[in-house]
Order: sequence, then C-alpha cells, then structure tokens
Amino acid sequence: MKIKSIQTYILRTPLGNERFYSSQCSFPERNSFIVKVETDDGLVGWGEGGQYGPPEPVAAVVKHVLAPKLINQELQNPMKIWEQHYADTRDFGQKGTYIEALSAIDIALWDIYGQMLHQPVHNLIGGPFRKSITAYATGCYYRGEDVLNYKASLPKLAEEARSYVDAGFQILKMKVGLLSIEEDIERVRTIREAIGPDTCLLVDCNHAYNVFTAVKMAKELEKFNVRWLEEPVVPEDRAGYREVRSSTSIAIAGGECEFTRFGFRDLFVGGCVDIAQPDICVSGGFSEWMKIQALASSFGVTVIPHVWGSGIALAAALHVLASIPPSPHTAHPVPLQNEPIVEYDRNPNPLRDELLTTPITLQKGKLPVPHNPGLGIEVNLDAVSKYSSEF
Ligand SMILES: [Mg+2]
Repeated sequence: MKIKSIQTYILRTPLGNERFYSSQCSFPERNSFIVKVETDDGLVGWGEGGQYGPPEPVAAVVKHVLAPKLINQELQNPMKIWEQHYADTRDFGQKGTYIEALSAIDIALWDIYGQMLHQPVHNLIGGPFRKSITAYATGCYYRGEDVLNYKASLPKLAEEARSYVDAGFQILKMKVGLLSIEEDIERVRTIREAIGPDTCLLVDCNHAYNVFTAVKMAKELEKFNVRWLEEPVVPEDRAGYREVRSSTSIAIAGGECEFTRFGFRDLFVGGCVDIAQPDICVSGGFSEWMKIQALASSFGVTVIPHVWGSGIALAAALHVLASIPPSPHTAHPVPLQNEPIVEYDRNPNPLRDELLTTPITLQKGKLPVPHNPGLGIEVNLDAVSKYSSEF
C-alpha cells in the first residue's frame, strides 16, 4: 500500500462578537490546520497539527517538507515514519512548527493504520482502560468588557459558570492572569459561589506571572479549594515552575506548549509539574504520546492532555485518554485523583461542532471514546469546504 496524496486544509471561521480573551491574546476567530492522507487502495486518514498559532507555517511544513518525502512511498508503521522525519528535521525543527506538522501527519497515519488493521487507535497504543472519559468544561474566559469594568461582568461570569454545572459538568476550568490579582480573585470568588463547594475548580494562568506573583496568586487560590494551577509561569522557566510548585498545596499543571519526549523529560527531571498536559496535535502525535506517557508514569506525574482545535483533535485526545492507566492504581479510581479527565472547551467552535458527521457530545458528564477503526470518525466534507481553503 502506497501513500497516494496528502492534502492540507486551513479551516477558519471568525467569531464576531463572540470573541474571547485569555491572559495572552484575543481569539477573534477559530482556526485549525488539518491534513488528509490517502492511500492508493482508497484508505483516508485525517490529522490535525498546532493549536493557537497561525496555521499557515504548519501547513507549509507539511506541504513542502514532509509530503514530498511521503507521496508514492510504501506505507510503513507511523512510528518508523515519525523517527525518520524527526531525524531529517532535527537540526532545525526540534520544537514548534515542525513538530506540529509531524503531529498532523502522525495522527493521519495512525488513522489509516488502524483502518488497515481494523482496530481503533486506542487498541494499538496500549489498549483501553475505559470507554468514556469524565469531561471538564473549559470556559469563563475574559470577554473584553471585563478589562474596562470587571465588576460589571461578574453576574454574566456567574451565569456562565452555573450553566456548566447545569449541563452536567463536575469540573470547571477558568482563566486568570489578564487582570490584577485582586480583580482576578474577585472573579474566582464569584465563580466559586456560583458553582458551590462540590464542583471542582481549576485555574489557568496561561503563563501570565513571574514567580513572586504566581506564588502570591496560589496562596490566594488555596482559600477557594482550587485543584490545579495551570501554566503559572512561562514555559521556559523550569526553576520558576519548581519554585511555585514547592510553595503551594495546589497541583501545578503545564505542558501545552511543550514538544516531544525530550521537552517533557526536562519538565519531569526539573520537578516542574504534578500534571503534564501534552497536546496530541502539538507534542508529536500518537507516536510521541506513548513515550511521554511512559516517561510521566516513571516520574509519578499524571498526564491529562491539553485539547483545543477541531473534532479531529478531540477524537485523537479521547484515544490517548482511553489508554492511560489509572494513576496511581486504586480499587476505586476517582476522576482527576486517579482517572484521567478530558478537556472540553466550551467556547464557540464550529470546527469542533460541525467537522465530524457524528459530533462527539457529552453524555452524563462524559465523552465517549470512538470505537470504530482508526480515529473512528467520519469527517464531514461539506464542513471542510465550508470553512477551508486547500493550502
Ligand atoms: Mg491552558
């Protein structure tokens, strides 16, 4: 079986007045880079690469660097292809765009590989421990007006937080870092009061702080029973991560901007995180995922992937989440404590909601793991053409 074609698509849709903000930037649109790999006997695999960055550089790497080496080549196992391409681009591509492009190709090849072997991907990367994953809602971003007058935005924030609990979520992740500590703590207090004491609250800073601000923030957050503090400092600051982690009882999460087993090795050796968050579309796809997960387990670090992007990214994450052993094992595993949970971004995203013929939707607070061969999804070609141009 040979690889016949590799098509790249940039999906893009403006959000208009639904635009939202993290501590770092605004999100005026949703975009995703996806790739379609086709074999000469008609199998089709889909992959996705990147997350927040511009999709064009990732698409260019696939189109101009990786695809020419793959087209008309015999289909080999995805891990072998990963190793070959990583070696080919090592001198200039150890992190960032090249690894995101490699992630997209890897996910598509595993999709084909699974179809060829008539197995869902999770059966090929270790086998499933569960058929569905408890979902956590990622929401409560900034809406823009809160920078000018955060107090006026608090009732809407409370309403949004409550809507997640009403929808069946038991875990909610909110954003901080755009405002002062005092103002952001008011937002945390508002949300805690809205969701009550029994809903688990996670807080994401998107690396907005230096160490002394992060330590101060963590101390304040301890009063609100916050379960994890995500990206408190910039990803390059390993010592800073370690210092914040040693200062607080809140678990430290990070890694959505990290790449490959080599990057995660440094996070683990540095004692930086309690929870590692590789994004499958960023850190190297399924092939690299297996190494990162193995490394994490040897350091006693819990892995809960970062999930963003389209329905393809969500499906890929669910396959790896199915394959994570309880960490650590207990006779009664509890979500987050021992069992992995899946990030379910609740901001508007037609690319997630419309790209799959059968969208992956919440069922009693959980997302089902796709069980058909490969990624187990069918991509809606009408949605692809609606939102994309072939790059
Ligand atoms: Mg995050």
